[in-house]
Amino acid sequence: MRVLVVGAGQMGSGIAQVCAVAGNEVQLNDVTANALAHGCAAIRRNLERSVEKGKISAADSERSFQRITELPSIEGSLQADLAIEAVSESLDLKTRVLQALDAALPPAAILASNTSSLSITVLGAVTKRADRVIGMHFMNPVPLMRLVELVRGIATSQATFAFAKQFAEALGKVAVEINDFPGFASNRILMPMLNEAMFANMEGVGSAEAIDTIMKLGMNHPMGPLELADFIGLDTCLAIMQVLYDGFNDPKYRPCPLLKKMVAAGYLGKKSGRGFYQYS
Ligand code: NAD
Repeated sequence: MRVLVVGAGQMGSGIAQVCAVAGNEVQLNDVTANALAHGCAAIRRNLERSVEKGKISAADSERSFQRITELPSIEGSLQADLAIEAVSESLDLKTRVLQALDAALPPAAILASNTSSLSITVLGAVTKRADRVIGMHFMNPVPLMRLVELVRGIATSQATFAFAKQFAEALGKVAVEINDFPGFASNRILMPMLNEAMFANMEGVGSAEAIDTIMKLGMNHPMGPLELADFIGLDTCLAIMQVLYDGFNDPKYRPCPLLKKMVAAGYLGKKSGRGFYQYS
């Protein structure tokens, strides 16, 4: 299968990696050469780590890496059976990327979005092939997490759904079907919890360390909510809360002001070196 991945950040690079390891030919694109090089370097590091852990042979790692080619632009004519967009969580940006893919790819190609919260129906409607648009919501880190939330837009065809399910399973993932509602199931449930932890921190209920330790030791969560928010990216968390808030018109989804302030300051979590914690 020929797969095109747009966005080489933490999710796009992970998706490109698992697609290549499963034997697919992958083209990877990002908006700048620097971001693309950064994504490829992350894939290289992750594959090396998999070799060290004995999950993959050195030869397979090398072969997988060779299956990934850098694609500097998505303008013009492109060839792929499936394109997966994993650009930042913005409706405007995803609209532009999906429209460019729609124009550049053959009519039979399927367009998948890795959006965490945006409507697949809306994303499908900006293209001329809404029946071939689907949500494939991978989890972070992609090589380790088994779930893919498969989201049908109102116009997504059964053939597209079956294709995406089979593709996810060929990557070794478990695909769970979910309907197109803001935040789907994963982030409708997870993100309000993270947002509430931020309110608790902002209101002085406890330090980030205290809140995270309570949830880890008391509730058996593998990561504390603030640590997890840093890992996801605070810009992504804010974008998802805003989609929930706008999508349901319900004040219970109001994004925490501290989250807004941190994103405005460029404190995006692990990827920027600073969030609720500091990273070197
Ligand atoms: P990220 O910030 O790590 O990466 C986003 C990438 O998109 C960046 O490399 C950026 O340069 C690139 N980009 C921006 N504009 C572009 C354009 N016009 N063309 C090509 N590339 C462009 O973010 P991420 O965490 O990888 O998130 C990407 C998507 O995956 C978002 O929709 C997010 O909601 C979703 N997602 C994130 C997580 C998570 O835990 N972070 C989990 C599941 C899904």
